[in-house]
Amino acid sequence: MESWFTKVDQTASLIQEELEVSYLEAVYLTGVNLFEGVILQEEILHNEVLSKRLKKEYESFDLAHMSKEELRKGYQLAILKGMKEATQAHHQMTPDAVSLFVSYLVSKMTSGKKVLSILDPAVGTANLLTALFNHLPGKEVTGFGIEVDDLLVKLALSNANLQEHQIEFFNQDALADLFIDPVDLVVCDLPVGYYPDDINSQKFQLKSNSGHSLAHHLFIEQSFRYTKPGGNLIFLVPNSMFEGDQAKALHDFIKEHGVIQGLLQLPTTMFKKKEHAKSIFILQKKGPDVKLPKQALLAELPTFSNKQAMEGMIQRIDQWFATEFEGQV
Ligand code: SAM
Repeated sequence: MESWFTKVDQTASLIQEELEVSYLEAVYLTGVNLFEGVILQEEILHNEVLSKRLKKEYESFDLAHMSKEELRKGYQLAILKGMKEATQAHHQMTPDAVSLFVSYLVSKMTSGKKVLSILDPAVGTANLLTALFNHLPGKEVTGFGIEVDDLLVKLALSNANLQEHQIEFFNQDALADLFIDPVDLVVCDLPVGYYPDDINSQKFQLKSNSGHSLAHHLFIEQSFRYTKPGGNLIFLVPNSMFEGDQAKALHDFIKEHGVIQGLLQLPTTMFKKKEHAKSIFILQKKGPDVKLPKQALLAELPTFSNKQAMEGMIQRIDQWFATEFEGQV
């Protein structure tokens, strides 16, 4: 995995210097070259020394011998390096530990399914979405990713291509109409904050009566719209979502359209500031066979590095799935 990261890093740095683009843009461009097996940038082809060097670097690496998880993790490291230089907090990639934990939840939830469609309406770099794909072996999975930022969606595309996942990406506002059919499962690390488009927010039940609406509330409503009856939804939500004057409207909306399966609080040590701490919110959309769980899964997760406590928690969650869930998705 390290040599893969080094390969992406070195070739991206060469491209960055030659084309005078950001490191992140260069990570995307080198990802595309690696996937296509050719150098696609005209300007580079005019520089014989550089194109020879890049070609040699690309040819010395065999993608076919890498696992999809290794490809994801190495590419993710390069993206993280680029993000440190460039991005604002709300563009942050979902941390690996969280992506892996959500993958575990999804594999439990979908154990009874052979064919599955998944939507991430705030797909970012597709780190979370492709981590899920990598933990669903033996299933036919199709994915849809929506992202408003054009560089992030390009990174997501080359990330998914390198891992050879069947994911369709849409570069658009996820709160506008989506050109997809309802899916079995929505997974989303929600963008938190105010949604600036007051006109579009009018079509949402969860719009604010004065001023901007909360993007994370509208995202939940939009996600329900694109989930099949009985389908599941997993959100990373700010802990503060359950407080404040908009919380009741959100609660009423969820009660009307869905069932709360669980709420797992992530360890606060994962977040730089306590106010930014998040939880994993597990829901199911109402449908003909959907029942209220006997007991929702409510827990504060231990620090992921505390192996013993984590094993105990996994046992408890496994037990919960065995009694409540039985692969309903
Ligand atoms: N799970 C992602 C990953 O693994 O990289 C990270 C998601 S990040 C917390 C939230 C993302 O939502 C950001 O990439 C941001 O650009 C995107 N976003 C914010 N508002 C959006 C909108 N209205 N439509 C689509 N995407 C949006």
